[in-house]
Amino acid sequence: MGSSQSALNFGAGPAKLPREVLEEVQKELLSFGESGMSLMEMSHRSKEYSKINNDAQKAVRELLHVPDNYKILFIQGGGTGAFAAVAMNLINRTGSADYAVTGTWSGKAAKEAAKYGKVNLVFPKADKPGSIPAESTWTLNPDAAYLYYCDNETVDGVEFPYIPNANGIPIVSDMSSSIMTKRVDITKFGCIIAGAQKNIGPAGVTVVIIREDLLGNPMKICPSVFDFTHINKENSVHNTPATFSVYVMEKVLQWIKKNGGVEAMEAQSSQKKTLLYDAILHSNNFYSCPIDEDVRSRINVPFRVGGPQGNEDLETKFLQEAEKLKMFQLKGHRSVGGMRASLYNAVTSDDVNLLVKFMNEFRKQYG
Ligand code: PMP
Repeated sequence: MGSSQSALNFGAGPAKLPREVLEEVQKELLSFGESGMSLMEMSHRSKEYSKINNDAQKAVRELLHVPDNYKILFIQGGGTGAFAAVAMNLINRTGSADYAVTGTWSGKAAKEAAKYGKVNLVFPKADKPGSIPAESTWTLNPDAAYLYYCDNETVDGVEFPYIPNANGIPIVSDMSSSIMTKRVDITKFGCIIAGAQKNIGPAGVTVVIIREDLLGNPMKICPSVFDFTHINKENSVHNTPATFSVYVMEKVLQWIKKNGGVEAMEAQSSQKKTLLYDAILHSNNFYSCPIDEDVRSRINVPFRVGGPQGNEDLETKFLQEAEKLKMFQLKGHRSVGGMRASLYNAVTSDDVNLLVKFMNEFRKQYG
């Protein structure tokens, strides 16, 4: 698999896609099937696209064992669009919602939702993300329309090791960076949102999984392109969808199926995570991860080089040396600095082994 041209891509998103999928897309690019047309050139009402749309929904359902009383929708507007859509579709019931802010993206989601209703932060915002306060200390509002949390904070590297208990209130989770990397009990959720551009496809499509009984109550101001009830009625072709993105996503989902499903992705994720965190742990503090051990992300691993505060000169050197070995997109998010390695489904254990080998050599030379 792969040619000598392929880079080792540890980017946070848009992120590495399976090479096989890209090769298949390349093969079909000029003529989808016998059509003589690219899928990009076909109507979203064509039988070809209808099949892709239905197959993609079916694959999400199969891979995540989504029960029949949940609907699977594809929307545009990215994860950020979904922050607004969640509030506009779900907050109406009581006018307020609970948010557990554990990092950048849940913070942005809470801010967006506050435009549409009352937002209660279930614990005070930490000055520095990197931990999740014990659930027993959360202040839940019994009248909240839903409890929102981000399963995996892509920027900060904080992942929930459990699904919170919301005392029967619907739970909404942003799984943009963790979808299809682990099994989840869908019945615990009211709604799941996930931008595709990390684990399941290119940018341009966001997957929404929503419990049927939560449909039917959008705010009047909700634009139809964000109205889950309307989108569900129209089977996600209410207007022109991001057809090419859905097409590639469908192929990635089939690739996951072929490679053992979410169960296999979870096992591989655990292996990759162990490799990288062990290298950090056994580096005599040359590498360090600022996140509390029990909530460290399996997917996005932030770390500093040259001591716990990081040494910026060494970090620049680290990135330069890594690029010479074709290891790309290791720079941490601009808001937190340092490094970040993202270990999405298409990133293999071999890729991580090469990164760890490089890290060990770099430490020997500069540590
Ligand atoms: N949620 C999470 C967890 C993310 O990582 C991101 C972006 N990477 C977003 C939401 C926002 O997605 P978008 O850029 O598609 O709006």
